[in-house]
Amino acid sequence: MQLAHPIFKILSEIAVEKGLEIYVIGGYVRDLILRRPSKDIDIVVLGSGIELAETAAKQLGDLTVSVFKNFGTAMFRYKGVEIEFVGARKESYHLDSRKPVVEEGTIDDDQKRRDFTINALAISLNRENYGTLVDPFGGLQDLENGILKTPLDPIITFSDDPLRMMRAVRFASQLNFKIEPVTFESIIANRERLRIVSKERIMDEFNKIMASPKPSVGLKLLEQSGLLSVFFPELSALKGVEHVDGIGHKDNFYHTLTVVDSVSRVSDNLWLRWAALLHDIAKPVTKKFIPGQGWTFYGHNHVGERMVGRLFNRLKLPQNEKMKYVQKLVGLHMRPIVLSEDTVTDSAVRRLLFDAGDDIDDLMTLAEADITSKNEEKVRRFLANFQIVRQKLKEVEEKDAIRNFQPPVSGEEIMKTFQLPPCKAIGDIKNAIKEAILDGIIGNNSTEARKYMFQVAAELGIQQEGK
Ligand code: ATP
Repeated sequence: MQLAHPIFKILSEIAVEKGLEIYVIGGYVRDLILRRPSKDIDIVVLGSGIELAETAAKQLGDLTVSVFKNFGTAMFRYKGVEIEFVGARKESYHLDSRKPVVEEGTIDDDQKRRDFTINALAISLNRENYGTLVDPFGGLQDLENGILKTPLDPIITFSDDPLRMMRAVRFASQLNFKIEPVTFESIIANRERLRIVSKERIMDEFNKIMASPKPSVGLKLLEQSGLLSVFFPELSALKGVEHVDGIGHKDNFYHTLTVVDSVSRVSDNLWLRWAALLHDIAKPVTKKFIPGQGWTFYGHNHVGERMVGRLFNRLKLPQNEKMKYVQKLVGLHMRPIVLSEDTVTDSAVRRLLFDAGDDIDDLMTLAEADITSKNEEKVRRFLANFQIVRQKLKEVEEKDAIRNFQPPVSGEEIMKTFQLPPCKAIGDIKNAIKEAILDGIIGNNSTEARKYMFQVAAELGIQQEGK
């Protein structure tokens, strides 16, 4: 194997001096063979990883080493790459924890503790066989065939550390690999064990699935294995079709996956992908069959918007502007469609722009992806109307600058003009001005807004001082 990074030769020489046996292992080797951009380099040492790291760091010009004594690991950065050192180890597990009991081991022991054969590949950095692939479990073959399989008994591997089940699905989605059938059966059998894993770790993997080229690959596997209902029952609840009087509705789970994939084709924005994932999350709880109307999901956008907050909290996702962005898009996701069903008026477009602000483009991307009807004529019509909405958005934006609306007359100015103390009337006048701008009665500029201010004030019986 060709090892390009200069660190490998340097470590190899130090290992010879110190009489150590060392290997590069795991993700770096996997990605090297797959020709994917590599990230961190993991070095396994038969002996002390910390000592090797410290010697190497000194030799390379006193690099700063982070040492994690409890884990027996050490790390430094060199030429833009994080290099992590660990002593070869053997691991054994207790039933109630995913933290193993660790003892020193051989390279073989260390490879056995790895989650998948493709992640257990090592390359020797030892002088006698420098660059040789060490592959005791057929990882190279599995890489070529696109197969995920555990080095040891999958039932034990997943029971020991249930996070590995999420990792299996994540790699399947990232690499578009298949999970080998016995391995997949073992995930199904162990799915409840996922409950001992922290939400943060589950979400790390879930977000990697969401960031993968086609997230539906992983989302389907999560559903089929039963993992999804363990940590995300609201999403599983979207699955299925109910019939009344022979009338069914669409399967909202598969619809959602289509929307997520469509959005992912045009955007890497993780949170836009989340908005796609959650846009119909409230459909199961708002679903109602109304004779004569069929299936309805009234208010699912607003109920969904509220559910986003609770979900983000429970799943330990960020409670900041990212969450607010997802809430906003879920709340607004039907607006462009509703708007395009009617004659697209300037004022409706202005209101949409006002409510969506800077997120208008993402909202349009989501709304377009949401059109998944099998009726081609319907899809064609919607997409054509969307073109009109986009065109109008541009025109209105150029004319009225609504996107980041700032009131053209401030509350202070109103108070000063009419010699008023802070009171409700100020808000009423400001609001009337905003509404008039959105309705297109006046333009978004201070001259027209001031003129309108006097008109509204007069209607409210407010006089300018001295007049
Ligand atoms: P990526 O870099 O894409 O996030 P990775 O698996 O290469 O994925 P890490 O998560 O840092 O990166 O893991 C490095 C290596 O450690 C893996 O390749 C695997 O050999 C091993 N590993 C990581 N997590 C586990 C686990 N839960 N069980 C067993 N081995 C693991």
